Amino acid sequence: MNQSILIIGAGPSGLTLATELTRRGIGCTIVDKAAGPAPLHESRALAFNARSQALLRASGVTGKIVAKGHAVNNIHLCWRGSLRQVVSMDHDISTPHSSGTITIIRQGEIERILISHLEAQGVSVQWNTELINFSETDTSITASLRNAAGVMQTQTARYLAGCDGAHSQVRKQGGYTFDGESDSQRWTLADIAVSGKDVAHTLIADLRPGQAFATMPIESNIVRLIHNGPDILTAHPIARYGTEVHWQSEFTVSYRLVKRYHRGRSFLCGDAAHIHSPVGGRGMNLGIEDAASLAWLLDTGCENQYSGLRLPVAQKVLSMTHRQTSQMNSASVGSTLAKKYGPALLSIPYIRRTMQRAVLGLDTPTPAWLSDS
Ligand SMILES: Cc1cc2nc3c(=O)[nH]c(=O)nc-3n(C[C@H](O)[C@H](O)[C@H](O)COP(=O)(O)OP(=O)(O)OC[C@H]3O[C@@H](n4cnc5c(N)ncnc54)[C@H](O)[C@@H]3O)c2cc1C
Repeated sequence: MNQSILIIGAGPSGLTLATELTRRGIGCTIVDKAAGPAPLHESRALAFNARSQALLRASGVTGKIVAKGHAVNNIHLCWRGSLRQVVSMDHDISTPHSSGTITIIRQGEIERILISHLEAQGVSVQWNTELINFSETDTSITASLRNAAGVMQTQTARYLAGCDGAHSQVRKQGGYTFDGESDSQRWTLADIAVSGKDVAHTLIADLRPGQAFATMPIESNIVRLIHNGPDILTAHPIARYGTEVHWQSEFTVSYRLVKRYHRGRSFLCGDAAHIHSPVGGRGMNLGIEDAASLAWLLDTGCENQYSGLRLPVAQKVLSMTHRQTSQMNSASVGSTLAKKYGPALLSIPYIRRTMQRAVLGLDTPTPAWLSDS
């Protein structure tokens, strides 16, 4: 019997799964329909949180990511442009596995670091290779894959891992449900170079009635602006310091979650299993945690526990990001008062620590193999 795992998708989830399986001595093949990783300047996620740092430390990947990115030291919470609260991220929280900081780095950089780490271990992504469908028996799966020239080939493996993103073919073919809702609110983002404003290590959330303007540092003079509305380059207060636009995009938010992460001989990780608002920066990190957990379960022969382990975590993160996003979009009196006076509550140590743990991704149970080590 073929003992290997066939991974569909070389985004952060699939690359983490390949990294963790390889570290544990489990054979895998990883394919992706794209020609290579997405262009660096179009990176969606920027935050590599403390939980992800802990998960990829054993493979040595965390050190490389932290060295390439830079730490966020402070979150500034503002009301109508005036600073209400500074939440310091470093030193307040640290665990045996986490430095207690967020590393800001483009998702594309993380992918490239994982790809070169895997290549050093003898595992290469097979690009231009698309999963068309799959079938399974009691002991194996057989996938039909198509290359860029349209040539079909089949591949047999012990298990199939769907790390193929929000429109997952593994999810559709595998008969998983993906229920949820879509929000019509239009969001915009812009990555811009700035001058005359120090933006290097501070994340800013500027809240107003019905509106939110976030600023995330990417490099010493490059920031990402995010706004829950149109016309970001005129509406966002930091845009006036801009000298050059590197990337602009707009998106709407959906909340969807599978009922199970595992059916028969297939498993789902990352956006294939859950999609939600980018508020809180959890999407990529949740996928990294799914993938690391699946590798551990496959290694210990407990893969049947995968759904039970990951569903409650995804449910918690989805409902939290839904609540936070609705709060930002709302112009109701209650939400306006919460945005105006809520930051003051962060002076209370328990509330402050709860927020820090959520931002760092440490508000869900510590994965068992980290607790044991
Ligand atoms: C604007 C925006 C900002 C975000 N900011 C953050 C943030 O700050 N922090 C955070 O944690 N998350 C953030 N996210 C979410 C994050 O980008 C995603 O959660 C993350 O990319 C999911 O990784 P993944 O590997 O599961 O899926 P993906 O990155 O979507 O990768 C899936 C891969 O599968 C491949 N594929 C698809 N179908 C097939 C097929 N049939 N055969 C072969 N290959 C296939 C695709 O080519 C792709 O490479 C943000 C998202 C958006 C839209």
